[in-house]
Amino acid sequence: MAACRDPSRACERWGAGGPFTKIGRVSGAGRTGARAALIVAIVLGLAVAVVIVVRTPWFVLPTPPGGHVPVDPTAGIPADAVQRARSFAAAVRPQSLAALVLGVAVAAVLGLTRLGARLVRAVARPLGGGWVWQVLLGVLALTVLGRLVLLPLWAYREVVEHRYGLSTESWGLWLRDVAVSTGIDTALTAVSMLVLVALARRVPRFWWVWAGVASAALVVVGSFLWPVLIEPAFNSFQSMPASQLRTDLLDLADKNGTPVQDVLVSDASRRTTALNAYVSGFGSTRRIVVFDTVIHQLPDDQIESIAAHELGHVAADDVLTGTLTGALGAGAGVALLGWLLTAPRLLRRAGADGPGDPRIIPLLLFLMAVGTLLSTPLQNAVSRQVEARADVHALDLTRDPEAFIQMQRGLAETNLGEPDPPALWQWFFGSHPTTAQRVALARDWERLERR
Ligand SMILES: [Zn+2]
Repeated sequence: MAACRDPSRACERWGAGGPFTKIGRVSGAGRTGARAALIVAIVLGLAVAVVIVVRTPWFVLPTPPGGHVPVDPTAGIPADAVQRARSFAAAVRPQSLAALVLGVAVAAVLGLTRLGARLVRAVARPLGGGWVWQVLLGVLALTVLGRLVLLPLWAYREVVEHRYGLSTESWGLWLRDVAVSTGIDTALTAVSMLVLVALARRVPRFWWVWAGVASAALVVVGSFLWPVLIEPAFNSFQSMPASQLRTDLLDLADKNGTPVQDVLVSDASRRTTALNAYVSGFGSTRRIVVFDTVIHQLPDDQIESIAAHELGHVAADDVLTGTLTGALGAGAGVALLGWLLTAPRLLRRAGADGPGDPRIIPLLLFLMAVGTLLSTPLQNAVSRQVEARADVHALDLTRDPEAFIQMQRGLAETNLGEPDPPALWQWFFGSHPTTAQRVALARDWERLERR
């Protein structure tokens, strides 16, 4: 044990074949570390819960006189468009579910049997089999394998999107996107795993403290740098050219109390006909991005509605709040790993000696996949409230509910979004209120104004 607390060569040799179970729950010292990890995980988990309860806008609009406007499941969209969206959903929904299940299943097969551990060993062998190579090449092999298994499902989705005229992308560009996103994923995962395993080898009992701090920092730095490092790998961005619209949007931002230097237009039309806009980054990297499809297709008053919604996110600092909550959640998750990865049965199942053994990586990736799966409905429940608040903000700012409603309908029609998807689906996957709910919200807002 002592040998592993400092990064000595003895420790390195342990990593290659060794009895890392010695730092597991079996030893007294390991038990102390594990218990501390569990306590920290519970405390941080509670902190995340408190932040979510306090910071989420659970009520965005008072009940109008005479009660809420009933939700029209068609959102006022023509029947043939609703039908088209439903048939598109029927074609892609099984794909989404299959991809979700298959992704977790592959991670489970690799992480809960010794297959993944063997793969990690095997890929590093030609380079001498050192633990660093095991981590780097292991992550590469596991990520690529996971993508290859899912590739037919994603290709099927692309075919459907082409058939419905939603995707405008060439297969060359599609493959390039798959390759680039796999590359970025691999690099980020490899660096994280390298840090985690290195810490576990250096500080066997309390590695999760440092790893938790590092992953929280990574969430914050990642969210800050995302718009300048990752987004340009897929799209190019240009300032919106001088026009009445641009002037109006910048005025709107001023009126909002959140002056912005610029509104960026992305070349989304290279890939899709879908209409969208978003805010990313915070502080000096914060930006409002509107798809070029929006600029080409929508009238100015509807573009203003979209921009006003995004300004709602800016005014409420939603990206920063989400980032800080995510950082706290990441810390809690790593502490939980600090506890779970001392369980001898789990380690034995995965064929790893402990968190300092690179063969732990398949198990880690599986646990992360499960964590993501379990937290998705919660994240989306919070997101739907945050989006509803931004909608109210857009209505307050533009005072133009008709443009807002037309914009919602237009987006649903063009993006083939079902105005009223099945409740269970919406509960799990819905990051925004349904179109039907958003239109009803605008009607509520109107009713409140007419008081
Ligand atoms: Zn939004």
